[in-house]
Order: sequence, then C-alpha cells, then structure tokens
Amino acid sequence: MKENLLAYDVPTLSARFAQWGEKPFRARQVASWIHRRGCDDFEQMTDVAKSLRVALSDRAEIRPPLPIRDETARDGTRKWLFAVDEGNAIETVFIPEEGRGTLCVSTQVGCALDCAFCATGKQGFNRNLTTAEIIGQLWHAKRALGDVRSTGEAGPRVISNVVLMGMGEPLANYENLLPALRLMLDDHAYGLSRRRVTVSTAGIVPAIERLRSDCPVALAVSLHAPTDALRDRLVPINRKYPLAMLMRACRRYLEAAPRDFITFEYALLEGVNDGDEHARQVIRLVADVPCKFNLIPFNPFPGTLYRRPSLDRIRRFQEILMAADIVTTVRKTRGDAIEAACGQLAGRVRDKTRRTLAVLAESPR
Ligand code: SAH
Repeated sequence: MKENLLAYDVPTLSARFAQWGEKPFRARQVASWIHRRGCDDFEQMTDVAKSLRVALSDRAEIRPPLPIRDETARDGTRKWLFAVDEGNAIETVFIPEEGRGTLCVSTQVGCALDCAFCATGKQGFNRNLTTAEIIGQLWHAKRALGDVRSTGEAGPRVISNVVLMGMGEPLANYENLLPALRLMLDDHAYGLSRRRVTVSTAGIVPAIERLRSDCPVALAVSLHAPTDALRDRLVPINRKYPLAMLMRACRRYLEAAPRDFITFEYALLEGVNDGDEHARQVIRLVADVPCKFNLIPFNPFPGTLYRRPSLDRIRRFQEILMAADIVTTVRKTRGDAIEAACGQLAGRVRDKTRRTLAVLAESPR
C-alpha cells in the first residue's frame, strides 16, 4: 500500500523526504499543499519539481477517512460521519459562532472510559484512531467548508479553533494524538495558536504530564463531580487517578501552559451533581487551581436514566461559582437535532470489546 502522508507531522515528513534524497524545504512545500490548500493530488502541486511529483504519486498518497454522511442542523452546526474501516465510523462536528468556528474532532472509535452519562462510552471501545484519521477530519472539514488558502495568505479562518472533544479519550491515544496536535500548530500546516487547540481529558494523569512537556496546548478537564465518592461513579477513571492527583496535575500543567487557566467541564445531571452543596464543594476543590468552568446541561440519548436540570437549577449552580469569582459559562446546546451535542456522538462501533477494566488495571507510566 502507498504511504499516507497525512500520518506525518512536518518534521517526520522532512525526515521521510531526506530518506528519499529530497531537501527538507520540499517537505514543507508539500505539507503546505496538503494541509493549507487541502490538495490531495501531487500533480496539482505546481511549484514542486515534476520528477518529485511523479515519485510521490508512485509511492505516496493523501488518504483521509471517507465521509459517508454530512448533515447540517438549523443552527448551522454540521456533522460528518466518516467510515474509518469495515464497520467502524466516527463523527466530527463543526460549530459556527459569532467571530469563530470550532471543529470538534474524535480520537478513538468508541471509548473505554465508560463515563456513566456519555453515549460514546455506552458504545464500548473498538480502537484508537491513527494520526491520519485524526488530522484527516480537520483536513476534510476545512475543504468542505472552503477554508483553504495558499502559502502566506492571511485573513479570517472558518475553522479558528479545534477541540479534541469528539468520540474517545484523546489522552488514551497519546502516541497518535501528538503528531496530529503538532500539525494543527505548525505554520506549514494548520497554523493554529496553542490556545486555540484544546485537548479535553477525563483525567489520565500521566498523559497530562507528558502533554505538558511535549505540546502544552489548552487543557480542558472533565470534572463532573467534586468528591471522589461521586466521581468514582460518574467518571470511573477516577478510581485510578483520584481528585487529589488530578488537581496536582492541573496545577503543574499550568506551569507550561499557553493559557493561565484550566477549563473544567461539568455536566449537570439532575439530582446527582447539581446541588448547592456540590457547587460549594467544587469551589473548595479548585481553590488553588486557576480555572474557568464550563457547565454542560446534560444532553440526553436513547436509554439513559439521567435528566437535564431545570434552567433555574443551572443558573443557581452558575451563580454560586461566579460568587466565588470563578468565571463560569453554560455551554449552549448546539446541533442536538442531528445528535451532535456533547456526549451524543456515537458513530458506529463494531466489536465493542469492553476494555474498561483493562484500562483501569493498566499501570501509570
Ligand atoms: N474523553 C474526553 C473528551 C470528550 S469531551 C473527556 O472526557 O474530556 C466531551 C465532553 O462532554 C466531556 O466533558 C464529557 O464528559 C461531556 N459529556 C459526555 N456525555 C455528555 C452528555 N450526555 N451531556 C453533556 N455532556 C456530556
């Protein structure tokens, strides 16, 4: 099979070119054709020498995951379903907002963490996405949205932000995620600033440490509960990396982070974690972590027993945090008519090997 160039970050592509006897600047040129201009045909790379174009066509290709569905909700939210192999499919969501556009990217087929209130978790886990499959979502969405440009061209972007908040736990697929993050930041590829790329994690502490030294992009942490007793139930990975460890990792992360705060995500579940006392416990828990809160009113999916709290309850929870000087936003529910809201991405997961216990048993690096 031909080599898929979407799998390589720019330094790796340069190393590959060196092995083929080509200069590194050629690799940067080709990277920019692929990622900035969304080009998938070597013949069209007109400033690349003919002989190199021919050689590349022989041995390499640009192969993104195959889009098999493309839906747009009334609010402009757009969702793609990509087939990644026989029987497996993943989802990617574009959320347009005033002055910016956010692409929500998946990192795994299903998820092994099994958070109690998440549709992806209920699907079970099949496999990690490859680097090409992760970056391929951005590559395709940019093209589909007409967000391509030539080298040096400035101006507003359609996709201004990327969040790794789709299907899967990004930090459980660290090796494949890292080159994709590097491409998002690379000026010869997507050229996004570190604060506009957000990795969201349920709290894989050793991987938070690695990310801090390898590629400190903005970090969001799915908190959802202020005590270990409750969080053990809602986010089972907490049994392995409890809150004290997680808070320490957050503080350490900020020593290297491009933003001076962690974003805590907190899904509000009626009667479970949405009480005044929970809000007060949250304030104590994060007292020494510079942070913002993003409250996510629970998004229902078929078969769940959880419910979204009333608007009053959501406001009250928000007010308690705000009164403690914690900037707190409530995430707008977008695209729920096409099941594109947080926790609703299910794709299609074959062979749902329940790896939950295996993940919990794995020893920290
Ligand atoms: N695995 C990563 C990335 C997923 S991000 C993580 O846990 O952070 C998706 C966010 O939506 C997470 O904060 C997740 O906990 C939250 N979420 C999952 N199911 C939800 C639901 N049904 N309603 C609202 N938020 C949900």
